[in-house]
This record gives sequence, structure tokens and C-alpha cells, in this order.
Amino acid sequence: PISPGHSSPGRSTAQYQALDAAHHIHPFSDTAALNAHGSRVITHADGIYLYDSEGHKIFDAMSGLWCVNIGYGRQELAEAAYQQMLQLPFYNTFFKTTHPPVIELSSLLAQVAPEGFNHVFYTNSGSEGNDTIIRMVRHYWALLGQPQKKTIIARENGYHGSTIGGASLGGMHYMHEQGDLPIPGIAHIEQPYWYANGGELSPGEYGLKAARALEQKILELGVENVAAFIGEPVQGAGGIIIPPSTYWPEIQRICDQYGILLIADEVICGFGRTGSWFGSQHYGIRPHLMTIAKGLSSGYIPIGGVLVHDTVAKVLTEGGDFNHGFTYSGHPVACAVAATNIRILQNERIIERMNEDVAPYAARLWHDAFDDHPLVDDVRSLGFFFALTLVEDKASRKRFEHGSSMALRCRDICLKNQLVMRATGDSMIAAPPLVMTRAQAEEFVRLARQCIDEYARELGITQGL
Ligand code: PMP
Repeated sequence: PISPGHSSPGRSTAQYQALDAAHHIHPFSDTAALNAHGSRVITHADGIYLYDSEGHKIFDAMSGLWCVNIGYGRQELAEAAYQQMLQLPFYNTFFKTTHPPVIELSSLLAQVAPEGFNHVFYTNSGSEGNDTIIRMVRHYWALLGQPQKKTIIARENGYHGSTIGGASLGGMHYMHEQGDLPIPGIAHIEQPYWYANGGELSPGEYGLKAARALEQKILELGVENVAAFIGEPVQGAGGIIIPPSTYWPEIQRICDQYGILLIADEVICGFGRTGSWFGSQHYGIRPHLMTIAKGLSSGYIPIGGVLVHDTVAKVLTEGGDFNHGFTYSGHPVACAVAATNIRILQNERIIERMNEDVAPYAARLWHDAFDDHPLVDDVRSLGFFFALTLVEDKASRKRFEHGSSMALRCRDICLKNQLVMRATGDSMIAAPPLVMTRAQAEEFVRLARQCIDEYARELGITQGL
């Protein structure tokens, strides 16, 4: 194993960057702009820290990409992968066969998932999970004799992945613009973002209003055409938008009243991010389907899936062939790693301990550091989600005209100071590994404050720092 602090490159940073620029197209990137500067080369990681090819130690307050929930460097996961590769590196589950790792993981998921979730369909990613859901819910309604019930209602600024289906469900216009999306049969309603859209309403009043946009949309489309509603319990990539507490109960009421399926995209919220095992539990909602990925394996290996509630599973499993699946659905190595990850979460009570101790402690530090800061507002946290918005004027909730480029500048200051936070719109967001200790939470908030202060000074703000 590579020890922390060890800088392992067989090549120099410049050599790595040149080869990367020559051959690698990065996701969600402006390749020419990126290559003009060169990518940072991350060589290894341990706990909550990353190390780059220049020997820097970096605080990873994004858990990779919202996924490394148990932290980096857990030998047990490497061992599980190694043993499984020797034992059975691959076999499919299409043609009347199964294998121990997929069986173990499926029964483990039934244990940790909310009541009634006893079945799982595997994918390699969250995007494929959501694509699976589109096909699954349409097939479900067809089996019930209502094939016209096809439309899925999702939300503006939601994120559900980058495949054609996932990006269509998502409400990111900059993604829709490329590739003629969304596909037919997807509708979007407003997101429950009080700070941006709440106007004079209280958060509680606004939460109800935002939820009732679903009811209006169902009536507009005709309930006989609506299959389901999908949402992330907390919008992650959209900027850690934590909905008002009135929002989800009203969504639940509407889904119940009109008899449409409720889908929770738990790709980020699942496996502890909110302080509960699933975001749905935090909000007390009862979805029919849940998309999972990321924290399922703590990002050590690609795996995702759809957790299917008994009510839907009964129809699907008695409905003949479901003509859907991936070569790597239920991949043995991925399943072995995910099962080991879940056992670590269980045995070490990582979610419970975080929820009881470090999450409330870190939330207090976060609010103490930023509530009165002149450059930020809408300071928010839940579980191990932390966010704030750069604002021009707190009193009037006035946001900067070029807020997103400002946040990108702020993010670059964080990176320069060896802190990984992310910029989304005009928000700065973080989601550290669930194993962050109290001392590390202090380090995180101190660093974040130092970076925001540095940016405030750059903007000429001197008062209140
Ligand atoms: N759903 C949500 C809520 C996500 O945050 C993401 C990824 N950020 C996805 C789906 C897509 O997952 P993947 O990138 O694994 O395809």
C-alpha cells in the first residue's frame, strides 16, 4: 500500500499533464481551457485527505464526488475486491444463474433499506439507475393496463445523471441544450428553493407552494398520463438545496392522492449523507423506488441500482420478462466491495455516530463561522451537507449578477489553499466523508472561513471579516 504523503508518480507532473491533455477528454469540462493550465494530478488518498503529484496534502470536503462516505484507504474493501477477483471475477445474471456476492448484497440492502424495500435491480451508476427507473415505471403501468401513463415529472435544477434518460429527468438547461433533450414524456416543475424563489413567503408557506406545483402539473397533463414524480430528497449537484420542512409531506400527499409513483433519487442522500441511512427516512416519505449509487460502495468501485418497494416489485416480478439489464448488473466484484462497505457502515455505526456527534458539532461551527459573514447568506447544513451562497446584500437577499463565475473564483481560492469545495451557481458547497472527526471538522471550517475571507478581501470587503 502507498503510505500517506508518499508521492508516487512514475512521471513528473508536467509529463502527466501533457499526456492527459493529449489523450483524455474530461467529463463536464472545457477541454481547451483545462489543458491550457493542466489538470491537478491526484496520486493517492487516505482518510479524508488527497495527495497530488506535487506532494500537496488536500482536504477533500467533497468526498470525491459525493461518494467516498467511509473515507479513503480502507484495506477491507481492497481485500474484498482482490479475493472476489480470484474467486469469480465475473459472471452474468441474465440466464438462470446467480452468485454469492450479489445474493449477499441484495439481502443486506433489504436489511438497511426502509421497510418494504426487499428487491434491488443493479446498474453501474446513478445515471443508469435513473434510466432503469424510466423503463421500469412505464413497464409497471403497462402491466397494470395503463400504457399511456408514461410521463415522469421532475424538477428544474434537479440532477439525475448524464445519460440521455438521466439528463432528461434532470432540470439542467445547459445539459438539455446539448443533444436535443429532454426526451418526450418528461415534465419539469419548480425546485423548492426558498432563498431564490420564496419571495415574501415564509419557508413553510413556500414549501407548500412549491410542492403544489406538482399537483398543478398533474392536472395540466391529466393524471391518466402521469406515471411518477422523481426528486432528490436534498438537491445535491443543484447546490445543496435543502427544501423547507413542509415540502416533502405535501409531495407525499399529492402522490398518494393521485396514485402516482414517488421516486427518491438517493444517489447522494443514500448511505448516510443526511444523517439517516436514506434521505427519504430523514423526511419521512415513502417512495416506491429509490435510485442508489455513490455511497453504496463509497465510490471504491462503480455500482448503482434501483431499490424497489414490494408494491412495485410484486407487479414487475409477476409481469413476465423485463427486457432490460447491463452486462455488469450485479457484478460480483462490485457487489463484494459494496457489501463490505455496508458492513463497515453498520459495524462501526458510522452514520449513527456522525449524526449524534460530529454533524451537530460541525453544523454549529459552520453557522458560527458564516452566519454573520458579510459576503454570504443562506448558510445551510444537514447531516454532512454544508453550503452557503455568495450574496451582494443580505438584507434584501440580493444575489450577484455574475454569481456563478464569482463562485468559481472562490472555488479556485479554496483549491489553492488545499481545500476541495465545489461551486454550484452562486453557492459554495461541501459534503465531506462521514468519518470526519471533530478535529477535522474544525480544520474544515477554519479553512473554508480563511478562503471566503481571502475572497472577500479580494472583492474589497473589509468590514465584518
Ligand atoms: N442522481 C443524483 C442525485 C446524482 O447526484 C448523480 C451524480 N452526481 C446521479 C444521479 C448520476 O450518477 P452517476 O454519475 O453515477 O451516473
